[in-house]
Amino acid sequence: MQEALYYRKLDDNKIQCELCPWNCILSIDQSGNCKVRSNKNGTLITEVYNKVAALGSDPIEKKPLYHFYPGSAILSIGEVGCNLHCNFCQNHRISQCEAKQFSGFHNITSKRIIKEALKTWNNIGIAYTYNEPFTFYEFMLETAEKAASAGLKNVVVSNGYINQQPLLKLLPFIDAFNIDLKAFSDDFYQTYTKGKLNAVLKSLETIAQSQTHLEITNLVIPGLNDDLAEFEKMVKWIAEKLGAETPLHLSRYYPQFKMNIEQTPLETLNSLYKIAKKHLQHVYLGNVSDTERSSTYCPGCGAVLIERNRYKTELNNLSAEGTCKTCGSQANIKL
Ligand code: SF4
Repeated sequence: MQEALYYRKLDDNKIQCELCPWNCILSIDQSGNCKVRSNKNGTLITEVYNKVAALGSDPIEKKPLYHFYPGSAILSIGEVGCNLHCNFCQNHRISQCEAKQFSGFHNITSKRIIKEALKTWNNIGIAYTYNEPFTFYEFMLETAEKAASAGLKNVVVSNGYINQQPLLKLLPFIDAFNIDLKAFSDDFYQTYTKGKLNAVLKSLETIAQSQTHLEITNLVIPGLNDDLAEFEKMVKWIAEKLGAETPLHLSRYYPQFKMNIEQTPLETLNSLYKIAKKHLQHVYLGNVSDTERSSTYCPGCGAVLIERNRYKTELNNLSAEGTCKTCGSQANIKL
């Protein structure tokens, strides 16, 4: 049993978890909204420590991260649990189930994960992904700290729903984030995810200010978050607060979990792509086969820097410093 971080004791053996904006108050034997942190006799424990539900080597482009060591592999781990409850969750089998009811865990220590990462071909580090990594915060923090000491990179793929203090503690060990910005409307967040938009925006600003590499994913759902004016507000906010060089991945939605709206029409993705390109240097279409709009172009002269076809990546015109060989412009690429 592993005691969790970030909680305080209240009267009558109740406790308050302070890891994420839910700030759940838990009576004895009660679990939080994420279903993986519980009150055991007045102590907050994490039920997702020294174990994984999934572990495998993925192309870094699958996270998706297009500007962070393109063409490399990353050992990816995930658990169960999530602190948002999206009707359209693309990973609901592990994210929306209780730790107590899950039978597919493999016991593993952070030391063993690092050993695996060090011997995996073409591997740059460890990605905390598949379910929401902030819900296995303690195991992630411990692994990331040790992995950084071993010279590995740490990558977090997350919904960004975390309180500031734990985020600030984790930041020095993380090299790159991909954060889901699901919409630019609090109404959307409250109705379809049960979370709040402002907390996610705050996390994005904190990460951007820390200079940690950041990319954003926006899953486009027809009729729910594809309003052109609202979308333009979102990309303007990204450009102004996080920087116009922040890569944005527009991902095609397919019906999943509790949502049966039809998949995103390609015309919608094309319209949003054009709007985003007015304000941001690097915009990509995901979950579709589109070499043109999944390749990276120089923001200075337009030369193709990285050509992508699904997970096949070719570095064409990049210097070792990640600048364009033709005109020398920076393209916000870590190599
Ligand atoms: S991490 Fe889990 S238990 Fe803690 S506040 Fe968030 S939802 Fe509640």
